[in-house]
Amino acid sequence: MSPAVIDPEPSPATAEPRMPGPGHPLTDMAGEFDRATVQRYARHIATPGIGMVGQRRWSAARVAVVGLGGLASPVLEYLAGAGVAEILVADVDAVELSNLQRKPIFATEWVGRPKVEAAAAGVHRINDRVTVRPVEGYVTEENALELLERYDVIVDCTDHAASRRVLARVSAELGVPHVWGSVEQFGGRVAVWWPPYGPCSECTPDIEPSSSTELKFTEAGVFGPVTGQVGMVMVSETLKLLLALGEPLLGWILHVDTLTQQWTDDRRAADPQCPVCRPAAANERAWAQTEAIPLAAGEDAWEPPLIGATTLQEMLQNREEFEPFVLLDVRGAHEREVASLEGSFHLELDEVRQGAAREVFGPHDNVVVYCRNGRRSAEAARQLHAQGMQGVYVLDGGLMQWAQEVDPDLPIW
Ligand SMILES: [Zn+2]
Repeated sequence: MSPAVIDPEPSPATAEPRMPGPGHPLTDMAGEFDRATVQRYARHIATPGIGMVGQRRWSAARVAVVGLGGLASPVLEYLAGAGVAEILVADVDAVELSNLQRKPIFATEWVGRPKVEAAAAGVHRINDRVTVRPVEGYVTEENALELLERYDVIVDCTDHAASRRVLARVSAELGVPHVWGSVEQFGGRVAVWWPPYGPCSECTPDIEPSSSTELKFTEAGVFGPVTGQVGMVMVSETLKLLLALGEPLLGWILHVDTLTQQWTDDRRAADPQCPVCRPAAANERAWAQTEAIPLAAGEDAWEPPLIGATTLQEMLQNREEFEPFVLLDVRGAHEREVASLEGSFHLELDEVRQGAAREVFGPHDNVVVYCRNGRRSAEAARQLHAQGMQGVYVLDGGLMQWAQEVDPDLPIW
């Protein structure tokens, strides 16, 4: 048995852009391989669609595996086999004898050891080049963003409703795919959630509200291989997503019944009212519908002038040096509860469309409109301009940009 080698420090994050979305690889490439590395990954390198470029991308990839239940076993084994750069493993429990029936990554002699330590040992038994970052604790609302923000894909092996919701929120916030699976007795389900490109797990309320995985398995039982079948689809989707290979299970739930070996699927749509992933998207959809209604002749070419975040900060700090202006937030009330710019006036985009601004502002007032990312504010600005206001500006990139350039502590959900 190899010793459990645990890397307590994460490897340094490379400076990467945010997630580019489906159809684009999610990682850069690792450096040139030596001969032994080429040999190790030879069958992947020889596979059309993967090749040296794909393997070098996997070798730079970072994957978070949350929950070390039965689903995690194949996920970790095949991530280790594919040689990803770094795996975060998170769990609070120790290996129990009853785990071994469906978690072949754990050896009998590891019973009693923390699962994260045993998982690291299991990964290193397969591939000692993989950095494992063990997190012995719960991933919660409070720590999830900090723990997971450096990872390219989040693999949810918790099979637990509360954890799933936390990971759904992080996925929506970071724009990172959330690979999810669930098993019970002889059946299982698996999906890829990735807002805004598809639904999040909380868009689909019929996913079971299981309160405790271990309780579920204790009471209802689970057929060992079904965790393997579902976990294998999860790791397959993860490796595909990293390279943008093929079609992800985005917006589909795949069901397996191992008693008949029937695989079926059903399509899920994003819920425009979803509290986790869609508040902004819902407004954007409404905006898209209004765009179809042509503005008055000559107005359609007008685009609002943009003001950068640092410029707006300077305007707010030295108001006396600028013409008077009003800050207007056009996001939803629930978004304002999370964060807003001090002293801003609030009208939702729909209210602006209905002419509410005319009751508040004069035609010669200067207004700087902002929203989360600059899209709704641009639409609001066009509406204000069409309604006769001349001094209308937009905060470029919205609060997302403000958080990046001015106030990194601003919570952006
Ligand atoms: Zn959702």
